Amino acid sequence: MRITEITTHLLNHDLDAPFQSSFSTFYTRTHCLVEIVCEDGTIGWGECLGPADINAAVVKSMAKMIIGRNPLNIEPIWLDVYNQYRDQGQRGPIHTALSGIDIALWDITGKHFNSPIYQLMGGAYRTEIPAYATGGFRPEGKDHTNHCAAEMAGYVAEGFRAVKIKIGYGIESDIATIRAVREAIGPDVAFMIDANHGYDALDAIEIGRRAAQYSIDWFEEPVVPEALSSYQSIRRAQPIPVAGGETWHGRWAIAQALDARAVDIIQPDVCGVGGLSEARKIITLADTHHVRLVPHVWGTTVALAAGLHFHAIIPPAPPSHEARSPYLEFDRTHNPFRQAIISKPIEHVNGMVTVPDGPGLGIDINRSALEEFAPK
Ligand SMILES: [Mg+2]
Repeated sequence: MRITEITTHLLNHDLDAPFQSSFSTFYTRTHCLVEIVCEDGTIGWGECLGPADINAAVVKSMAKMIIGRNPLNIEPIWLDVYNQYRDQGQRGPIHTALSGIDIALWDITGKHFNSPIYQLMGGAYRTEIPAYATGGFRPEGKDHTNHCAAEMAGYVAEGFRAVKIKIGYGIESDIATIRAVREAIGPDVAFMIDANHGYDALDAIEIGRRAAQYSIDWFEEPVVPEALSSYQSIRRAQPIPVAGGETWHGRWAIAQALDARAVDIIQPDVCGVGGLSEARKIITLADTHHVRLVPHVWGTTVALAAGLHFHAIIPPAPPSHEARSPYLEFDRTHNPFRQAIISKPIEHVNGMVTVPDGPGLGIDINRSALEEFAPK
């Protein structure tokens, strides 16, 4: 079997109601899918985290190294491509583009062997995964506190037993929002906060000390991802477990953060860290560093499906009768093409999500939706 074609599909939706993280405003939803076609007609799909147009350009550049090769040789292809680009590619678009290619190759391999990806990667520890609802961005120009509390109460009413909100809009505003959300969701729902690196270490420590009384499960990206020493300071100076990792790409960046004891919870994204091949290596790194692994997920249902297969192969650490399952991040922000691009949406049922068990990723792409949401 040989690869004959690699193409990308950009998806775009202009938002009527823009929303904000601590540092950016989302006016559109844009994502980049990768499609790899083989001479026997087998097609694989992948997705790249981050700027869609840049990912598309990098995938196009990489394609010339991959066309003509056997798609089942995933690791040799990965290493050849990465090695060709590593001098300028130790982080960012080289890894995110290669992630989309790697996921598509695993999708092809699963279809070739008529097996779900998690089976080929060693088997599933779980196929039903508890999800947390991720949302709580600030609507542009509107109050965050009341909007966020109502939004989170809605997720709990849907059956979610865990939620994550965005903070990083100022200390007093954030503490008011955290208090309002805890009151809205009640005492028994897991509750996480994500600053998207909107604070420096001193402000993050103050937030952590004051927010801890509201029983916060983790404090995600308190400071910029380059500041590993600040992560260490924040871990020492406030009581909430610190999480991060969605921008630490590749095994080497993850290892650097783990060696620095920067986080209590490491959060690689399968569409950014280097695909499923690299994500599998991060499992070993987290295990040997004794750091909890809870993946980051952001994108379309292609990314969600890849994230589910990754989740399925994360071993319980430690294995025990009552071993915990890592949460699945389940994005609830507005994105009309997230589910529309596949024929059978992946939804939660009372906060639980089932890993697809069909061949490969276990999803079927709806090509008419790709055309509908192509940039005009
Ligand atoms: Mg985050």
